[in-house]
Amino acid sequence: MARVIRPETLRPETLAIHTGVYKDTAFNSVTTPIYPCSTFYFDKLGESKEYAYGRFGNPTRRALEENLAALEGGADSLATATGMAALSTAIFLMKSGDHIIAGNDIYGGTWRLLDICMPRYGIETSFVAMDDPAAIRAAIRPNTKAIMIETPSNPLLKLTDLALVSAIAKEHGLLTIIDNTFMTPLGQRPFDFGIDIVIHSTTKYINGHSDVIGGAIICKDKDLARQVQQMGICLGTVAAPFDAWLVLRGIKSFPQRMKAHWRGADAVARYLNRHPFIKRVFYPGLESHPQHELAKRQMRQFGGIVTFELDTAQIPISDFFSRLRFFKLAMSLGGVESLCEQPWSMSHDTMTEEARLAAGITPEIIRLSVGNENPEDLIDDLRYGLEGDEA
Ligand code: PLP
Repeated sequence: MARVIRPETLRPETLAIHTGVYKDTAFNSVTTPIYPCSTFYFDKLGESKEYAYGRFGNPTRRALEENLAALEGGADSLATATGMAALSTAIFLMKSGDHIIAGNDIYGGTWRLLDICMPRYGIETSFVAMDDPAAIRAAIRPNTKAIMIETPSNPLLKLTDLALVSAIAKEHGLLTIIDNTFMTPLGQRPFDFGIDIVIHSTTKYINGHSDVIGGAIICKDKDLARQVQQMGICLGTVAAPFDAWLVLRGIKSFPQRMKAHWRGADAVARYLNRHPFIKRVFYPGLESHPQHELAKRQMRQFGGIVTFELDTAQIPISDFFSRLRFFKLAMSLGGVESLCEQPWSMSHDTMTEEARLAAGITPEIIRLSVGNENPEDLIDDLRYGLEGDEA
């Protein structure tokens, strides 16, 4: 008799490779096939197999959903077309007249969704400093329904105390939603702290190869997962089979890639922290990070993103960017190749100038996504970017 293995006893490296595959009982393919299929025929009236119509469900998408739910430790998930589709599907769980509390330094696209789009449908958001529990409590109104968290924040890597915010939310019966894209299920486990919904832009680390845009919503509770899946079907925000397959393919090496991201980011952060042309380094793994103790408590790893403030009296920012060879000037993050960007004019330019300044984002702030290259080559690239041929 085949041995029964309980998924909760497996480690992430094994879960990533084996969950959601083995869908092909006809030929025993070791990978999940792509089912580019808009509809599935019924054997007879009233008797469909598991799938009926591509938007309602697709075996390739389902494989990814099973895999992501297992990695995050949730009951179930919905794989979406983009990270923004995941965020908007989750926000559509609210209704007109509801109020949300969100961090004031969240991803620019989420800020735009909450600040510009949702008020048209009667859903208002208050943006607060999430590292200030008093500000969170003060923002709660009788119609507040949810708290949206991004920790570490983007791009300044400020932390939100997950246990504390989750406790505040529970006191007031609020739903907690976290965008865990920066940390991934391997770096931070929001469900362990009582969070209800985890969102990912799978475009980033989970796929990791900069060749697909995708997203996911994972719920701790099965009923909530059902509501999210129904909303995804209703809005049509679901992932396409080919994209789902690409993300599944990326996931096989995801735990291994993350180890290289963490090692590289730590080395880069420590190098920049010692450099005289750098005013400040923002990285939760540095002992000098003001919330390093909280980071050690709630993060399993410190992530692959390093943000810093350049001393532009020493080197103009455009000279720094144009000297880099391996850190490509591009807006995304989480791929095997290292990227750099200026949040002021790139990832966060959708926020008003006032909102950017309130969040501490100035033109001198640079965000690095440390890839999987050898950290010594990356440090050499940064050294040349900062010093040119002078050293
Ligand atoms: N959340 C975070 C933290 C992001 O950085 C991004 C995109 O950069 C998104 C969500 C949106 O994801 P997507 O571009 O896959 O829609």
